[in-house]
Formats: sequence, C-alpha cells, structure tokens
Amino acid sequence: MKRADVVVVGGSAAGLTAAITARRHYPNKEILMVRKESQVPIPCGIPYIFGTLGTPQKNLIGDAVLDKNGIELLTAEATDIDREEKVLHTTEGDVSYERLVIATGSRAAMPPIPGFDLDGVYAILKDVEYLGKLQQRLETAKDVVVIGGGFIGIEFADEINKMGDKTITIVELLPHCLALAYDEEFCIEMEKVVASRGISIRTSSKVKEIAGDGQVEKVILSDGEIKADVVILGIGAVANVDLAKKAGLRIGLTGSITVDRTMQTSDSNIYACGDCAEKISFFGGGPSPLKLASIATLEARIAGANLFGIRRENVGTIGVWSTSVGDHALATAGLTEDMARKRGYDVVAVTIKGPNRHPGVMPGAAMHQTKLVFERNSGVILGGQVMGGTAAGEVINAISACVQNRMTAEQIAMFQTGTHPALTSSPIAYPIVNAAEMAIKQMRERGG
Ligand SMILES: Cc1cc2nc3c(=O)[nH]c(=O)nc-3n(C[C@H](O)[C@H](O)[C@H](O)COP(=O)(O)OP(=O)(O)OC[C@H]3O[C@@H](n4cnc5c(N)ncnc54)[C@H](O)[C@@H]3O)c2cc1C
Repeated sequence: MKRADVVVVGGSAAGLTAAITARRHYPNKEILMVRKESQVPIPCGIPYIFGTLGTPQKNLIGDAVLDKNGIELLTAEATDIDREEKVLHTTEGDVSYERLVIATGSRAAMPPIPGFDLDGVYAILKDVEYLGKLQQRLETAKDVVVIGGGFIGIEFADEINKMGDKTITIVELLPHCLALAYDEEFCIEMEKVVASRGISIRTSSKVKEIAGDGQVEKVILSDGEIKADVVILGIGAVANVDLAKKAGLRIGLTGSITVDRTMQTSDSNIYACGDCAEKISFFGGGPSPLKLASIATLEARIAGANLFGIRRENVGTIGVWSTSVGDHALATAGLTEDMARKRGYDVVAVTIKGPNRHPGVMPGAAMHQTKLVFERNSGVILGGQVMGGTAAGEVINAISACVQNRMTAEQIAMFQTGTHPALTSSPIAYPIVNAAEMAIKQMRERGG
C-alpha cells in the first residue's frame, strides 16, 4: 500500500495550495496529491477559453509546481475513507495517511427546469475535454442563451460574443444582473456596458422550460420565449461532498463539509478547504454561500499550515471579487450598502467619481466610481465597490485589507498612498481617502 504523511484529495485551487502550503510549513513530510483528472483547467479562466484564449489547452494549471515542491501525484478518483485505519481508497489502490485534506470542490448546480438534459444544454463543468466539445459546438451555434446573470454568466456571454456571428441573450431571474453582489447603480451601469456590446439581457425573467425535440430549440420564459441552439447554465455551484458524506464526516447547513476556524473537519486527522468546505461570514459569523477561488486558496493556506499543530485561524469570508467586460471592470469587497442595511447596520455610504490617472487626459485614463460603506457609530468600514478601468481589480484588494483590519474612516483618511500620473488617481483626490473624508464629515454632521 502507498503511504504519505499528508494526502490531499483534489488538484485545483484549494488542493494545490494546501499541498504547497503543507510543503512550506512541514519540509520533511511526504505529500501526495490525488486528483481524478490528468489536466486541470484554471477554473476562473474557463469563460476566456471561448473568446480570448481560443482553446482549453491555454487554460491549464501546470504540473511543474508539483515537482518543484516535492509533491507526488496520483491520478485517481478517491472513492472512500477508512477513518479508523487512516486509509484512502482510490480507483488506483489504497493510500495510508497521517493527515488528509479534502479539497473536492464543487460542481455546477442543475436547475429544476424541464429540458435541462436536452442536447445543446451545457452546465459549466471544470473538465478540459468537455470544454473543448462545448467550444466546438459554439463555433457553429447561432442563438445562444445564457441562464444566470451573475459574473460567470456575463463573462461567458461576452466571451462567446467575441466568437462572432451569434445572437446572445442573458436571462436573469432578479431585477438586475449581478444583483447578489453589487448595489443597484453598479448593476445598471454594467448592464449598459454588456448591452452596448450587442448582448441582450432579460431581467426579472423566469425560465419555465428548455424546449426541443432531442436538441434544444428554444427557452420558454415567464414572459416570452427565445430561440436557442445552445444554452449555457450559469446558475451556481454545489459542494462536492460525496466522499466526506460516505466517510461520515459532518455536513453543515449549506450542504458543505463542516469545518472549524482551523479548517479541521469533525475528524481531527482530516481537514477540508475550498468549495467543498462550509464558510462563515466575516460579518457576524453566520453561514456564507460564497464559493470563490480566492476563498478556496485562503482556506487552503490555513489547512495546509495547521496539519501538525494549529498555526492559523479563519476570520471568515469577506467576499472579494471582480469581473470585467472589455476594459470595464467591476469589483466588490465585503457588504454592499443594501446588504449592510438589510443586516441592520446604521450605514454611511459615500461614492467618489474621478479619473484613475492625473491629469485625467493621461493615456490609459478611465473614470472610476468608488463607493465605501461604513458603520455610522464605530466608523468601521464594512465594504466597498469599484467600477472603472482594469485597475479596479487591485484597488478592491486594498479596500479588502481595510475591511479585514476593521479600519475606521479616520484610519483610512490617514492612509499613506503611493501615486503617479501614469498609474493612479491624484493624491489630492485619491478615491479611498476622499470617500473616508466625506464619510467622516457625514458622521460628524449627524453627531451634531
Ligand atoms: C466559470 C467560472 C469562473 C470563475 N471565476 C472566478 C473568479 O474570477 N474569481 C474567483 O475567485 N473564483 C472564480 N470562480 C470560482 C472558483 O473557480 C472556485 O471557487 C474554485 O475552483 C474552487 O476551487 P476548489 O479547489 O475548491 O474546487 P474545484 O476547482 O472544484 O476543484 C476540485 C478538485 O477536486 C477533484 N476531485 C473532486 N472529487 C474527487 C475525488 N473523489 N477524487 C479525486 N479528485 C477529486 C476535481 O477533479 C478537482 O481537481 C469561478 C468558477 C467558475 C466555474
């Protein structure tokens, strides 16, 4: 029987990061990764296969990093865990372990809609061969319907649009695309950008049926129907917990593997991280439905470090992510104004608009809209959103650092920023600092 001190199941964002982290913290341990596929796609890059990259082969997580970190690879499916004996059963034989990390990720959620199994209907699977077939199918498609107007649906629609000669429609149940993560004004702006690229959007529209005779022909909505020869389902993901469930590990309220703040499961020799693991919110500690690669890798850095002694704890999920359509980016961290109000916070929200270069006629300049949300009494930042040029993707990470450190508006107003005409907004009107100053003014005015 094979043996390793650390066995990691899963070879994507969480599994790979957990294995590398284990190597960094425990240089003398034997580490084995078990993953079922020979090639692993970069999950976040999947939409870009169809327009920007042109082939799934340009969107792979390379294996060189395994060799570099002394991590052995077993290409096999893990089928069961004997927790008493500490043995993992796989399709390529048994492996005994000291510590096991489950990073089995998630799979596409399938809607309870008649016709989702018709030919031409594609869920988003993280599978290189399947994605290659989808790409071939899209090459001859004329009418494409994307169900789900979250960031993945929008990115798919925009990238398929780049293939040319197609009618593309996004169908979204909520009043706006991206409505689960952005305040309305940002959703409306992004919808305008998407529409300006020739993509139709049907919001507040429920899919009743995907119809066709063997092959999809149309999508029937609560308010009409749309011709379709390919339908993409972008409605979310569910945790892959089959292995954990079979082994009797505790499963939580969101259907994911229960873990504590150290990422330990209900078995002290088994850790879980990534999309398969339950998440708690940074704001109040309740369950969080978010599934993001950035969260998966954070959890993996915690799990990997804690395998032979607790070194790190999870503070909970802030929820930081960005998306872009062309040069137009949208990014969020923490609570939106709407989310904060619904949770009962007394909120001060400030929006600053201005160019991300100075002067604003510098090459590469784009208008940025930065919104920060603060809790009125404490002045602590709860979240932020940024819309504008591609720099928004990094600006939001600075905002996330402020949120994670529970910085007050006063501390953010004292932020020491680096600025440059060709790279950033002006130091006189640096958006994060300006928004904090405006928020302080509003808090003072209310305070009298
Ligand atoms: C189209 C798309 C775009 C996205 N874009 C972004 C983005 O821009 N930013 C962001 O933060 N997040 C994004 N995400 C979310 C992100 O991809 C996930 O959060 C991330 O993939 C989670 O990583 P993971 O390792 O936990 O799980 P997964 O990526 O699902 O990987 C699970 C791994 O486990 C393996 N596995 C499962 N079961 C077994 C078994 N029994 N035996 C052996 N191996 C097994 C799988 O084969 C796979 O290698 C996107 C997701 C999709 C689908």
